[in-house]
Amino acid sequence: MPSPAETVRRPPILDSLGRVHSNLRISVTDRCNIRCFYCMPDENIRFKPRDELLTFEEIEQFVRVAASMGVNKLRITGGEPLVRSELSELIRKLVAIDGIEDVALTTNGILLAEQAATLKASGLHRLNISLDTLNEATFQRITRRAGLERVLEGIFAARETGFERIRLNAVAIAGLTEDDVVPLGEFARAHKMEMRFIEFMPLDAEGNWQDDQVLPGEAIRAQLEQAFGPLVPAARPDPSQPAVDYQFADGIGKIGFINPVSQPFCSDCNRLRITAEGQLRNCLFSTTEWDARALLRSTADDNEIVELIRQCVWAKKPGHGIDGADFVRPERAMYQIGG
Ligand code: SAM
Ligand code: SF4
Repeated sequence: MPSPAETVRRPPILDSLGRVHSNLRISVTDRCNIRCFYCMPDENIRFKPRDELLTFEEIEQFVRVAASMGVNKLRITGGEPLVRSELSELIRKLVAIDGIEDVALTTNGILLAEQAATLKASGLHRLNISLDTLNEATFQRITRRAGLERVLEGIFAARETGFERIRLNAVAIAGLTEDDVVPLGEFARAHKMEMRFIEFMPLDAEGNWQDDQVLPGEAIRAQLEQAFGPLVPAARPDPSQPAVDYQFADGIGKIGFINPVSQPFCSDCNRLRITAEGQLRNCLFSTTEWDARALLRSTADDNEIVELIRQCVWAKKPGHGIDGADFVRPERAMYQIGG
């Protein structure tokens, strides 16, 4: 058996359609400090007890095995990852794993002003910050909490600290955020950040999603073109990236669209997910999970984890099927999976 310092290389993680999986999303908590209606319930939430969550050591062990199978990109998410204490300790461990080239974090930004410097020092490579609106009233309608100022402070603190490519994510909701599209575009241009609009998916905890609440990426693009002139398609260095990116014609700023509902990108998906309590999922919309925590907490060796990862990914369906007559929503909502 190789010592922990020795690098083991294993064949890549393939599904039955030949998609190679190199991107792992790690949820570190199901807790959050706000309550976005498209993700969490407002009240009566039963968070997972702390001892059910993977420890940092368990996450590290899992990532080490995944990296030996070709996983090279990680995204830390949740719930709100910054509410997990000592998160930068985990990041420090993950960036040091052989084969891991890119570690990113998705946050709502509320705690970012106080944590940006520690995150930067931990070696975190990239930050995505959620920003659906620049209007405090709309922010409160979405999140059922106050806090837009803190998010903005977090964004600027992150930049001050040296995070260069900051990406802002906005979930677009028909009937609610149309008026936010152009101001968000202006904000991204003014501060030279990248803005990405994401279609609302049926993963809200309260099960209220309706397809007429989806503001299609194409409609947002039309709105932006009316305000700023034509958008020019940007190069697509990574075909598995879910976003279709554009540049403004004057070269200032970049805009991307993640259109999982109106233009599913499942055929290029290379993502695998592990929930905060160590359940592996091959899709946001999986209705099946594979129990990695049971292996990580047993005497199982790495080969059993390898087998579990292979089984999970091999079972991946061709697509999420949101618009199919037989679509079944997963029991878990976004905050319990990790977006
Ligand atoms: N709390 C962090 C945040 O909000 O950035 C990280 C976790 S959150 C679940 C990850 C991303 O999923 C966020 O950009 C969030 O806006 C997005 N999201 C949550 N629910 C969604 C839904 N039903 N449809 C589309 N995107 C959603
Ligand atoms: Fe919290 Fe992120 Fe879900 Fe909003 S989207 S409730 S910030 S986990």
